[in-house]
Amino acid sequence: MPTYGERNLEFKEGKGCHLISYNNEKYLDFGSGVAVNSLGHCHPILVKKLQEQSNKLWHTSNLYHSSLQEEFAEILCKHSFAEKVFFTNSGTEAIEAGLKVVRSFHYFNKDFQKKNIITFEGSFHGRTFGALSAQQNDKYSRGFEPLLSGFKKIPYNDIEKVKENIGEDTSAIMLEPIQGEGGVIPANLKFLEDVKRICNDNKILLFLDEVQSGFGRTGKLFAYLWANLEPDILATAKGIASGFPMGACLSTSKASIGMTKGSHGSTFGGNHLAVSVALEVIKILTTNGFLKEVDEKSRYFWKKLKEFEKNFEEIVEVRGAGLLLGIKTKSSNIEINNMLLKNKLLCLLADDNIIRLAPPLIVSKKEIDQALQIIEKALMEYQ
Ligand code: PLP
Repeated sequence: MPTYGERNLEFKEGKGCHLISYNNEKYLDFGSGVAVNSLGHCHPILVKKLQEQSNKLWHTSNLYHSSLQEEFAEILCKHSFAEKVFFTNSGTEAIEAGLKVVRSFHYFNKDFQKKNIITFEGSFHGRTFGALSAQQNDKYSRGFEPLLSGFKKIPYNDIEKVKENIGEDTSAIMLEPIQGEGGVIPANLKFLEDVKRICNDNKILLFLDEVQSGFGRTGKLFAYLWANLEPDILATAKGIASGFPMGACLSTSKASIGMTKGSHGSTFGGNHLAVSVALEVIKILTTNGFLKEVDEKSRYFWKKLKEFEKNFEEIVEVRGAGLLLGIKTKSSNIEINNMLLKNKLLCLLADDNIIRLAPPLIVSKKEIDQALQIIEKALMEYQ
């Protein structure tokens, strides 16, 4: 189905932060397959692990115990608020699992009136019906109505609007700590902390969508760790296995009390191949100061881009966090992105005329400098 439009560029190989096209042109990849290749392309440790596991066992379904899943879940819990994990194959499935956690929590507690989840304008949560209904952008939902009921959309980063819209029927507040597709818009930390306080006061759940912002993208394992709060539920995916399809829904024991035997399931979720790779990813991310380095590199990148913001009229604003940065341009982001592409730099677009930069977390300072040079050249040519 032509859902992705026309695609003229195809790659035959990738290594680290680079991709090689079929006509042997080398591209610097600052899109990472939409913030997925956290350890770059074909990281040798991941390749080795995948090869080893593929010779041992691929799939047994979730009818059987998996000590790989158990080990990975324990590491995830050790490094986050979580006490329970459900494995999926994608971000949108992790969101669906989280939505079921919310519904089942209030059902279990016989709070049957708590039906509505507060979500935010500009959010993107995925393409399945629950996720599609949670977000507001009719770019994604047009033609697919009727959507699911039970979502109330309000402006992002506006705590007064949250207070105004909390009611007896509110079951949870669901948000991205950094809106990715919506235009690389970070939540204010104070806003996040106030939202959590409101959740506690009203006995409702805080559900974070860290599908894009998780797995080290902001210099911490999850973006919420920059704030002084713990969510009740968190969906993550993208960078979790650096390109092997996988996702996870994390929760506290209390929040997932209603997720009893038979309440949810997945044939492939947490399959041996995916988890064996994800285990290596999280081990790398959580050892030897890896995330500290991500933080340092992202601060360097941020500082340089902020200088561009001062020097080039074409840049309206640089925003974001960690290695998830957005450049809002005056002219069409599509045109500027095409110039970057011509100069062999792969970036992403986002709403609000944003060029989104999400390089692999292993990016070197030298590669950041190369990207900066290409961006500078494109901006100079465009002036
Ligand atoms: N949530 C957020 C914040 C995302 O950015 C995305 C994908 O871009 C999703 C959910 C959906 O993830 P997936 O495409 O893996 O289903």
